Amino acid sequence: MNEILLDYNLQELQQLMQQLNEPKYRAKQLLDSLLLGQNIDTNTTLPKSLKDKLSTFVWQPIEIYKAFQGKSAIKFLYKLCDNNIIEGIVMFHKYGNTLCVSTQVGCRMGCKFCASTLDGLIRNLTAGEILGQVVAVNKYLQGNIVDRKITNIVLMGSGEPLDNYDNVLKFLNMVTSKDSFNFSRRNISLSTCGIADKTDKLADDFPGIVLTISLHSAHQAKRQEIMPIANKFSLSQLMKSVKNYQVKSGRRVVFEYTLIDGVNDSINDAKSIRDLTKGIMCHINLIPLNYVKERNLKTSKNITNFEMQLKKLGCSVTVRNSMGSEIDGACGQLRRKHLEETE
Ligand code: SAH
Repeated sequence: MNEILLDYNLQELQQLMQQLNEPKYRAKQLLDSLLLGQNIDTNTTLPKSLKDKLSTFVWQPIEIYKAFQGKSAIKFLYKLCDNNIIEGIVMFHKYGNTLCVSTQVGCRMGCKFCASTLDGLIRNLTAGEILGQVVAVNKYLQGNIVDRKITNIVLMGSGEPLDNYDNVLKFLNMVTSKDSFNFSRRNISLSTCGIADKTDKLADDFPGIVLTISLHSAHQAKRQEIMPIANKFSLSQLMKSVKNYQVKSGRRVVFEYTLIDGVNDSINDAKSIRDLTKGIMCHINLIPLNYVKERNLKTSKNITNFEMQLKKLGCSVTVRNSMGSEIDGACGQLRRKHLEETE
């Protein structure tokens, strides 16, 4: 695969300009052009001599291949340079537009209810491929660098962000940089299935974003059954890392809890959540299970009651409305549907 220019931050582009015997200021011109979603043909700020030198590089690593318009969301299929397909969704809220980005093609975490993991991990995305999703959708919505049409980013698409740590960290540094889109950390959420050691590393490298933990069960044995990562990092180990992130960040942690019929939706399950999260500044997001046809699991019939139980127990809790589920808004489903259709 040719080198991707969006993988370079401003300092690295400046070094590249030096190697190419070009003035330093060309780096910022190039970066601005890349962030606007321009490519070698549509760029108007660089001289032809420099463009010639940059012709072997990939300018835009993400191409919007298909867009599906829902009521308050647009779902995208993107094509990568190696023809792999990934997906994303932008959701329009009162407070702004949230883009959900993917961090890997496929996933190797093996959660029993998730469609992204069915074929295992195909490959990691580079930092530029993650940033490229923001660039492509911002351009699609007719935004630019100052007047961004994306206000919030959630790393909740396909893949496990902490299993692609270095590229995700580079992406976070780039997207929050003043040289780039200048996102505030508080407007970024990172969702993990619970890789505790990398959560500790993130607390040192990049505190201040919203840490979101895919909990799905507060019972160790039950969690092991539905989430293989729980065999490697126990709930008690994970909660230590969560508290550590919380302390270093000063920000509320979010727990995601997908309600699966007869698996994790009893009163006892609600009590375990309360016991586990006691003393932690947190919010619990209940998610109706999106049906994945390869899995024999159904969404809970007990969602409102479960929410009420948790409220009675003193937890801060809401049910997440499944925006985009009418357009296959759950992770991995749209990509799979596409693969089946093109097989
Ligand atoms: N790997 C990361 C991020 C990707 S998944 C993580 O595990 O957090 C984003 C969220 O969607 C997670 O909370 C995940 O558990 C949830 N999810 C996965 N499959 C789902 C399904 N079929 N229905 C509802 N939520 C699902």
